[in-house]
Amino acid sequence: MQIRDIRATTVTVPLEAPLRHANGCHWGRFVRTIVEVETDNGLIGLGEMGGGGESAEAVFRSLKAYLVGHDPARLEEMRFLIANPTASLYNNRTQVLAALEFACLDILGQAWDVPVCDILGGRLRDRVPFASYCFFRYPDAQSGAGEVRAIEQLAAYACDLKRRCGFTTHKLKGGVFPPDYELEAYRALAAALPGDSLRFDPNGVWSTEQAIRFGQAIEGLRNDYLEDPVFGLNGMRRTRQMVRIPLATNTVVVNFEQLAANALDTAVDVILLDTTFWGGVRACVKAAGVCETFQLGVAVHSSGELGIQLATMLHLGAVLPNLSFAADAHYHHLTDDIIEGGLMRYQDGAIAVPRGPGLGVRLDRDKLRQYHELYQRLGNYPYDQDPARPGWAPIVPNDRWADPNDSRPVRIPY
Ligand SMILES: [Mg+2]
Repeated sequence: MQIRDIRATTVTVPLEAPLRHANGCHWGRFVRTIVEVETDNGLIGLGEMGGGGESAEAVFRSLKAYLVGHDPARLEEMRFLIANPTASLYNNRTQVLAALEFACLDILGQAWDVPVCDILGGRLRDRVPFASYCFFRYPDAQSGAGEVRAIEQLAAYACDLKRRCGFTTHKLKGGVFPPDYELEAYRALAAALPGDSLRFDPNGVWSTEQAIRFGQAIEGLRNDYLEDPVFGLNGMRRTRQMVRIPLATNTVVVNFEQLAANALDTAVDVILLDTTFWGGVRACVKAAGVCETFQLGVAVHSSGELGIQLATMLHLGAVLPNLSFAADAHYHHLTDDIIEGGLMRYQDGAIAVPRGPGLGVRLDRDKLRQYHELYQRLGNYPYDQDPARPGWAPIVPNDRWADPNDSRPVRIPY
């Protein structure tokens, strides 16, 4: 079997409302590049990447010269072909490799008539539990609905998510407003959801001293962990010495070099594995094995997915023995999907691992066309800009917080 063609199609799929984070905002939609790898025997494998609000079509087109004629089963060969570690000093293609790996695993599963999780060691669970991923949100540009800014709005939103999806774990994305305001918001979340577990993530934007102050203030709550309170292994290590809550990261341990450093001199307790950041599902399985050896915790990170990437997260979640936390997903903020059957459903806070061959999801061509046309109309968006604060950029550690009392309407082009 050989790769015959690689196609990439950029789509934009609307969110319920714009999602605010420490570096800016997802402007009411995700931009994702959908990859199709076709083989000489007519199979089509699916991949996906994105997250920064920009198209990656041109990169995938340029890699046809590397991969046409390549056997999709030779995944390790492909890793060195397009993401050799020293060549990557000039041209880092880790995330591109991930999308191509998803597609090749999808092809192999179809060719062998097994789901991807069976290629990865076989499923240990049929459903993967997820956390509610709560963001501060601007209101939707068209309907004016969906704002989460006031603390009462946040508590009501989280309770509604629990009722709709069954979540018993809740994550709050912070780093937007002054830390004391977000502390009050997090405590309100805990009070509104008694018995449920919590996690907080300000995207590494605090000083170490602020991280220690916040961490100590929430020690009495039912925390899974405190995620990336500060950027950098040494800040995390200093925070960990002073705070009696596990620390987690998806920013300072995102490759095997950093994982080794963290095993030798631990700064982080829980590693959030991202099938894109780490360069594929198989890299995450390998990393989870290292974490199992060193008894570090493991969870699944979300970089903003549609159904294809969600399928990779589900197959990963199915095979990790040491997945002891609910996974993260932005998925419940989406209004639609580009896979057949539309959005996958949550039941009791979990999503079923697909059972069909390969990734177990198929493209809905009408939806792909519809959301490609929407992308052509709207273009990219700057993930690291805030539409309400032109020219603003956070520093690290940050002191340029948004004002929680600022209720001016936000104009987002749509
Ligand atoms: Mg994070």
